[in-house]
Amino acid sequence: MPNFSRRAWLGRLAALAGMAGLSLRRAGATAPKATKQAARYQDRPNNGRMCRMCKYFIAAGGTAGAGMMGGTMGPGMMQAGSCQLVQGGISPMGYCDFYAPLSG
Ligand code: SF4
Repeated sequence: MPNFSRRAWLGRLAALAGMAGLSLRRAGATAPKATKQAARYQDRPNNGRMCRMCKYFIAAGGTAGAGMMGGTMGPGMMQAGSCQLVQGGISPMGYCDFYAPLSG
C-alpha cells in the first residue's frame, strides 16, 4: 500500500494551484477532486466501512455527510451520490483511501 494520505493529496493540489497563480479562496472556487484511481475507490465496502458512513459523502438528494441516520434511508438509500473529494458518481456502498467516519 503506497504512503498516500488525503492531507498529502490536498497539499499537493494546493501547491499546484499556488504555482499556477490561482488562489482558490480568492477565486471562490472549490478544490479539484481526486480521480477514483488516485483515491483507490472501489464499489464495495472495506471491512464494514463505506461511503454512506463517510463525512465526505453527498447523498443523491444532496445531503453531505449523510449516514444511515442522516437522510439516506428509504428508497434513495442505494442511489449513487457524489463525494466532496472524489470525482464522479459514488456508490453509498463504496470506499476509498480518503474515508473518514462521520463520528470521527
Ligand atoms: S472520501 Fe472516499 S470513502 Fe468517503 S465518500 Fe468519498 S469516495 Fe467514499
